[in-house]
Amino acid sequence: MSRAVLHIAIPSPLRRRFDYLAPMEPVAPGSRVQVSFGRRPVVGIVLGGAAGSDVPLEKLRPVEAVLDTAPLLPPELLELLHWASTYYHHPIGEVCAAALPVALRQGQPAQPRGLRRYRLTPAGTEAGTEQLKRAPRQAALLSRLQRLGIAAGPDDLAELDGWPGAMKRLEEKGWVLAEETLMLPASAATDSAPPLGAAQQAAVDAVSAAFGGYAGFLLDGVTGSGKTEVYLRLIEQALAAGRQTLVLVPEIGLTPQLLERFRRRFPVPIAVLHSGLSDGERLNAWLAARAGLAPIVIGTRSAVFTPLPNLGLIVVDEEHDPSFKQQDGFRYSARDVAVVRAQKAGVPIVLGSATPALESLANAAAGRYTRLELPERAGSAVHPHMRLLDIRHQPLDGGISEPMVRAMRHHLGQGGQVLLFLNRRGYAPVLLCHDCGWVATCRRCDAHLTYHAGQKRIRCHHCGTERPVPQQCGGCGSLDLRPIGHGTERVEEALRARFPDIGVERIDRDATRRKGSLEAKLERVHSGAARILIGTQMLAKGHHFPDVTLVGVLDADQGLFSADFRAGERMAQMILQVAGRAGRAERPGEVVIQTHHPEHPLLRLLIEDGYGAFAAAALVERRQAELPPYSFLALLRAEAPATAVPQAFLEEARRLAESVGHGGVMVLGPVPAPMERRAGRYRAQLLLQAAGRTALHRLLERWLPLLEESKTGRKVRWSLDVDPGEMF
Ligand code: ADP
Ligand code: ZN
Ligand code: ZN
Repeated sequence: MSRAVLHIAIPSPLRRRFDYLAPMEPVAPGSRVQVSFGRRPVVGIVLGGAAGSDVPLEKLRPVEAVLDTAPLLPPELLELLHWASTYYHHPIGEVCAAALPVALRQGQPAQPRGLRRYRLTPAGTEAGTEQLKRAPRQAALLSRLQRLGIAAGPDDLAELDGWPGAMKRLEEKGWVLAEETLMLPASAATDSAPPLGAAQQAAVDAVSAAFGGYAGFLLDGVTGSGKTEVYLRLIEQALAAGRQTLVLVPEIGLTPQLLERFRRRFPVPIAVLHSGLSDGERLNAWLAARAGLAPIVIGTRSAVFTPLPNLGLIVVDEEHDPSFKQQDGFRYSARDVAVVRAQKAGVPIVLGSATPALESLANAAAGRYTRLELPERAGSAVHPHMRLLDIRHQPLDGGISEPMVRAMRHHLGQGGQVLLFLNRRGYAPVLLCHDCGWVATCRRCDAHLTYHAGQKRIRCHHCGTERPVPQQCGGCGSLDLRPIGHGTERVEEALRARFPDIGVERIDRDATRRKGSLEAKLERVHSGAARILIGTQMLAKGHHFPDVTLVGVLDADQGLFSADFRAGERMAQMILQVAGRAGRAERPGEVVIQTHHPEHPLLRLLIEDGYGAFAAAALVERRQAELPPYSFLALLRAEAPATAVPQAFLEEARRLAESVGHGGVMVLGPVPAPMERRAGRYRAQLLLQAAGRTALHRLLERWLPLLEESKTGRKVRWSLDVDPGEMF
């Protein structure tokens, strides 16, 4: 059969593939080609071929160059991408592009690049850090290299402040050799695995019994209960069987500490894929995974699309984490795609969390996943004790009540450390004129500007606009401008005044902007130089603070009154993640939560009976309100510089949905977004809600082509979000 025509996926907002004339030589699906699209040359992926096209052949343009001699994307991955394109109703070209590292997207050769890595010489292996007392950076680097026992690269060293300079010094001493390498390194060191606890063993046994076929597991265990140890054992088994494991972690979960734990256990190449790496590093990792040379692949969201010829196991750590859902462009959920991938590949998947998503708990209850519980912390650590602190009528100093201060003094007096959590950056969320009531607002958003005292600026947390703090009221000219409310900066100030003799560290995005400053802060906490920490959700993940015995949540009320139905779930997850930082070692921890709503039923359940009870009650509410996981949602968003246009487009969209017949699907809206104006654009949304997935997708299939034809649609920026994670 002659294949005159190639179907090609091209990154473009149009929901279709494009036909080009095939070159003389055969081109297998999954290969990259260069074609001209409009007037520009683009890189596309060959999806398949055919003898003819819907377009007359004389109108088709030829493929200009074939970029790969062998297909870059194997058939099973192409099939997964097709599935994702269909399920998320997103153009196949953009879906395929999302699966490729940048270098390959740009058409560069599918060849590993020579990358610089650093290996210890025998002298360096022998060297002791006591010779480096005056050079702490070199000492830290040397001990990291000695622990890793591999030719280390930026993926291993990223957070060590100033490592390139220190590396030079070590090279000059003859302790380190730089080498250019195409290969991912494998460590030599192997930690031995600790004997498993009974619950861990049961979890490992259940999953190992399922190797070789699809099975879904929800590994539900509090922070420190040994979930990672379970993953490590399962990976060991996959390795022994010669199979690859894909480990997905949330954006801020892929710390060098986690990587080091993997490297110290497994003497095999580990491919690391996340956005903090250079294009070359990602290219090499991706190619090694695709060639089957990396038995372990650890990555964030987009790593779910890595080609893995010998896939044997998938692990999704912190599966509830919202960062698994892409919030713009191709809005996929990496966790959900991972489950489909496991099904298609016929391998087990383990979703792990201390606070599973309500969706996952419902899936487990419905028998779609096997639930594996790790109820106890590993070793001798015990659960922290949680209590609510009623702050109604309580004077607050810097957002901190007197009983909280007393609790802090008690724990500090016993030699413990204190961690305070407030998910609000800056000094104060509002700057108000005491004489006329004027507040500083963003010119481009419906939002207040946050006052940042350190930088003496006011800043919009939605669009990034910022300007110097005004000296005078913008309304009446008064000089009496006052910060209202509390952010972490203000709490830090109050803490320093209250506890002048105790070191305080603030950990949030502002305080850690400079490279290495986070590490320096963590170091001061670990050494005991600082004993009080105040921070945002940056604190909630990844880091361990063994000496923290008191965790204070300053404001639990944020999640209780949000426009987003998931806010309560997120708040509960956040509280428990932060609580998980306490009492990690042998010291019993205490968690104290400030609230104005101590009688709130869901909050009480969470505190008194734990996350499981909270989740069960929250699921009952979801069922009554017909919200996910008991219904299926798609959100059509539209935005434009003029206020009426998005509404007009969504009105038309609504009529079009009615015209195609929306049996079983409710069309709700259009309504303005909860924050209607953002970055100078007006935003509105239309919500589709269905009791079943099939009805929803049947409607979307017929509806989207009509939306693409809409003339009003060209005047707005619109997007469809299937299974939206956020409702604004
Ligand atoms: P999680 O991933 O659930 O937070 P980890 O696997 O990181 O838990 O375990 C928490 C701590 O307990 C780690 O320091 C780990 O090395 C240790 N640990 C885990 N399992 C065991 C075990 N069976 N015996 C001893 N220590 C363990
Ligand atoms: Zn004023
Ligand atoms: Zn703004």
